[in-house]
Amino acid sequence: MSNMQDIITRGDKVLLKTYNRFPVVFEKGDGVYLEDSDGKRYLDFAAGIAVFALGYNNKAYNDALKDQIDRILHTSNLYYNRPSVEAAEKIIRTSGMSRVFFTNSGTEAIEGALKVARKYAWMKDPTVDYEFISMNHSFHGRSQGSLSVTGNAHYQDGFVPVQMRAVFADFNDLSDVRAKITDRTCGIICEVVQGEGGIHPAEREFLQGLREICDEKDILLIFDEVQCGMGRCGALYAHDLYGVKPDVMALAKALGCGVPVGAFVTNEKASHALVPGDHGTTYGGNPFVTAAVSKVFDIYESEGIVEHVHEVGAYLYDQLELLKNNYSQIIDHRGLGLMQGIELDTPAAPFISKALENGLVIISAGTNIIRFVPPLVITKEDVDQMILILDKTLKENGLH
Ligand SMILES: *Cc1c(COP(=O)(O)O)cnc(C)c1O
Repeated sequence: MSNMQDIITRGDKVLLKTYNRFPVVFEKGDGVYLEDSDGKRYLDFAAGIAVFALGYNNKAYNDALKDQIDRILHTSNLYYNRPSVEAAEKIIRTSGMSRVFFTNSGTEAIEGALKVARKYAWMKDPTVDYEFISMNHSFHGRSQGSLSVTGNAHYQDGFVPVQMRAVFADFNDLSDVRAKITDRTCGIICEVVQGEGGIHPAEREFLQGLREICDEKDILLIFDEVQCGMGRCGALYAHDLYGVKPDVMALAKALGCGVPVGAFVTNEKASHALVPGDHGTTYGGNPFVTAAVSKVFDIYESEGIVEHVHEVGAYLYDQLELLKNNYSQIIDHRGLGLMQGIELDTPAAPFISKALENGLVIISAGTNIIRFVPPLVITKEDVDQMILILDKTLKENGLH
C-alpha cells in the first residue's frame, strides 16, 4: 500500500465523517505548489480555501512563527501580549476602524459580530426579540449563531430551529431588504463577495443602500470579509473597493495565513456595545497566532501583495474569459481580484476530481461553480499553467 493510501485508510476509521474527502494527503508545500505523500506535485488554486495567501513555506513568515514559539505561545486574555497589540494596530491602521477582538476562526468572528449588533440594539430597548437580516445564498459559518444567518438550507437542514432569528433577503436586491426591515431588526449581515454561495460580488448601490438603511434605523451593518477580505479582491478589505464602511467587519482565513485566527473589528459606534464580561475566549489572539497576523501585514506591505492581486487578478480574469468563449457549457464567469468562479451548466464535482488527478487543486462553490482562490502570490505564468491543465481537464470530461 502506498504511503498515501495507508493514511487515507486509517483516517477513514477514526475521523468523523463530516467530509467526503478527496483521496489525497498533502505532505508539504512550496510557493504555489503542493506535494502529496507519494511525491506527486500539484499547482494550488485553492490555498486551503482562501487561506494561504503568501504561498507555502514562506521563509519570513515561518521564521516569525519559529521565533514566537521560542518566546511564548500562550498566556491568556487576562493579560496583555505584545503580538496581539501590534496585530490589532495594523488592522486598525489599514481599516480605519476602532477596535479588534481576536477569535480562533471565522465562525467565531461572526458570532462576536452578531453579539455586538444584538447588544447595541438591546442597550436601546431590552424588551425586543431581535432578529437579523441576512442574504439568501450567504455563508457565515457552522456554529449555531453563524448558522442562523447562513441563507442556505443545505447547511441548516437537520439543525432547525437554529438559535437566532434571521430573515433572508435576496442579495443585491435592496427593495427586498427594505421590505423585510421591522422594528425587531438589529443588524444586517452580508458578504461583500459571496463565496460559498457561488462567487457573487455585491453591487455598489446595494452596499450603499444597506449603509443608508442601517444609518436611518440606527442598526449595525456587518460585513463578512472572512473569505473576500485580506487583499483577495484587489483591495486589502473588499469593502474598500466600494467606498462603503461597515460598523463591524469579520475577518479570518487569510488573516493568519494558516494559523487558526479570526477577528471582528468594530467602528467607534459599535465599540461600546460589548463591555467587560460580555465576551471572551481562552485562545483567541494568543501570542502565537497574532505574531502570524502581524507578520502577514508586514509581508503584504513589503511585497506589495494587494497591488499584485490587482494585476494578476485582471490577467486571470482575461484568461478565464478566453476559456469561457471556447465552451458553450461555461455559462458565466464572475469575481473580483483573485476570487473568481466559472459557472457550468452541469455539476462541477467531476471536474474538480479530474483536475486533482491532473495535478491541479481547485474547489467548487455551490454545485455548478468552479472557484479560483489561489495564493495571492501566483504569477501570470502560474495562471497560464492552470488554464492549460483546466482546459485539458474540461475536455477529458467531455465539456464542450
Ligand atoms: C469560511 C467562511 C466562514 C467561516 O470560517 P471558519 O473559519 O470556517 O469558521 C464565514 N464566512 C465566510 C464568508 C467564509 O468564507
